[in-house]
Amino acid sequence: MSKKDVIRQNIEEIREDIAKYSSHPEKVKLVAVTKYVGTEEMEGAFEAGNPIFGENRVQIIREKKEHFDTTAIGEDIQWHFIGNLQKNKVKYIIDYIDLVHSVNKLSLAKELDKRAAQIGRTIEVLLEVNVSGEESKEGYTVESLYKEIEELVKLKNIRYRGLMTMAPYSEDEEMIRGVFRGLRELKEELNTRYFEGQMTELSMGMTNDYRIALEEGSTIIRIGSKIFS
Ligand SMILES: *Cc1c(COP(=O)(O)O)cnc(C)c1O
Repeated sequence: MSKKDVIRQNIEEIREDIAKYSSHPEKVKLVAVTKYVGTEEMEGAFEAGNPIFGENRVQIIREKKEHFDTTAIGEDIQWHFIGNLQKNKVKYIIDYIDLVHSVNKLSLAKELDKRAAQIGRTIEVLLEVNVSGEESKEGYTVESLYKEIEELVKLKNIRYRGLMTMAPYSEDEEMIRGVFRGLRELKEELNTRYFEGQMTELSMGMTNDYRIALEEGSTIIRIGSKIFS
């Protein structure tokens, strides 16, 4: 099989899993995480019907965006930023990024808000939460999020679409499930207290744990290895 055929088959398998494990499959979006691959593989994912790409480095997402802007499919691609975003790099992605998954501090949110205002757009973001409290992980702890939430909601050029998390790498399914369930419950609480239901997205689930995430209500799964290898 050609590389593109393998990618197509992998995406089809993931689609079948979405139908099987999610209770609301029509709401689930698949982000093809392309940090390991080049534009040829990305084209394969696009041709298999998956136009959403996720990258975790500003320099790389820019280069790939510039490449696809010169092609016929450029306009149909959605770009998601999924990694740690430094404030001084916001200006390089603000005009085209469709969703930032990884807002993890107020200073970053303020920079996104300011830059979005300058170009007259609203930027859609997710708040990244480290539900398990693991020290090595990026993202708000639940406690630190509550400390900043009232300032966050004041930023008028940001639309908070939901929450994102990464579960710890582990064999312990029940622990992983607990993390995803925790994120879902946190979203419900934030919606009631601050967002009047406008948070609809739960970005959770990667190659090793996306089936569990789907069972726990994920609406965005971010998958690299399973698509491209
Ligand atoms: C790399 C990455 C993924 C995809 O990981 P796989 O295990 O290859 O599916 C998802 N989310 C984030 C934030 C990542 O950095």
